[in-house]
Amino acid sequence: MIVVRAYPRVAHRIVLEASPMFRPPGMTPGPCYNRLYSSLAMIQLATAVFFVALGTCLTQGSAREPGVPGICRFLGGAEAAVSLQFDDSMTSQLANAIPLLNARGIHATFFVNTESGQYKSHRHEWEVDVPKAGHELGNHTAHHSGAKTIEELDKEIGLCSAQLDRVLGARPRLTSFAIPGGVPWGFTPEQLAKVLEKYRLVLADRRNFFDEQKTDPVSYVQKAIDTHAWSNVSMHGAGGEWLSTSLPTLTHLLDFMVAHRPALWIAPNIDIYKYVVEREAAEQPVVKRTGSSMVSVSVMCDRTKLETFGCSVAALYDQPLTVEISVPVNWDQIRIVQGKRVVHGEVVRAGLARIDVLPNAGSATVTQDSK
Ligand SMILES: [Zn+2]
Repeated sequence: MIVVRAYPRVAHRIVLEASPMFRPPGMTPGPCYNRLYSSLAMIQLATAVFFVALGTCLTQGSAREPGVPGICRFLGGAEAAVSLQFDDSMTSQLANAIPLLNARGIHATFFVNTESGQYKSHRHEWEVDVPKAGHELGNHTAHHSGAKTIEELDKEIGLCSAQLDRVLGARPRLTSFAIPGGVPWGFTPEQLAKVLEKYRLVLADRRNFFDEQKTDPVSYVQKAIDTHAWSNVSMHGAGGEWLSTSLPTLTHLLDFMVAHRPALWIAPNIDIYKYVVEREAAEQPVVKRTGSSMVSVSVMCDRTKLETFGCSVAALYDQPLTVEISVPVNWDQIRIVQGKRVVHGEVVRAGLARIDVLPNAGSATVTQDSK
């Protein structure tokens, strides 16, 4: 197993820019545009190396010995993962993309601009309906207008973060971040890193910016499946507005993804990010058996491998990890309780179960379910 020791600390320092070709209507490049993109080119190279390393280090799950408990590569034993990202809080996303996603039980990440006219005129949908349906609201700055100074940058990101806190509750959390493209920025990557750290933001992987004229989005998903990796597809309009993905293309993409469940885990960016970093920081699961009636399982992470932003590990890293364990061969249904919660799990074949365990949260108790 390859351990990328430093990557949680690196990840939030990586800038993944919206497509340099993209410029929202009415916005023109400013004097910092070229300077930003020259530094972004270097950062994007580092990002590519980071995600390749991340993909490489995800092989432990399938390589372990039979009977040895281990953490699956992705949730539920999936072999690959895909996150869908939509930018700019566009009305066409509310009208067209979200109904298609909801009908298929797909949860995506929406990078919103909380002070934009589009967002404010549909505030209830963005702040109530979208989170309630299980989608992630990511930080895309308040106005999508850029920032000429570090103070402006802090204000743009901080305003958006504060609004998301009001919507989602002010408890500490990790939130996905995507920097708007096509507007002037005046800061160094180091200055950006400090602001992201302040607001506990994680830069999203933005390499797969979908352009319907050039690419089939299914190819991004197929590549993830073929390489057993985590991939993303980033989009803007849905059946309208700018850089639009047509609805037949979006429908085709979503149906392709659904057809590959459960081998494909489809989830918001932040969920997959947390799974991957927790998994890489996790120590060997501890499994204890009490006679033939009960199995307990716990997973601890090496806290030095997780970026805590001054918070407790348990507060930020709350994504369950799927652990494979041996169970008595006569168990065909199981019940799992961790703390006060009944958690998901299933017998996948005689003698083998997969259970979703919250790391750093004590033991999960597995018993035979006689129902
Ligand atoms: Zn944008």
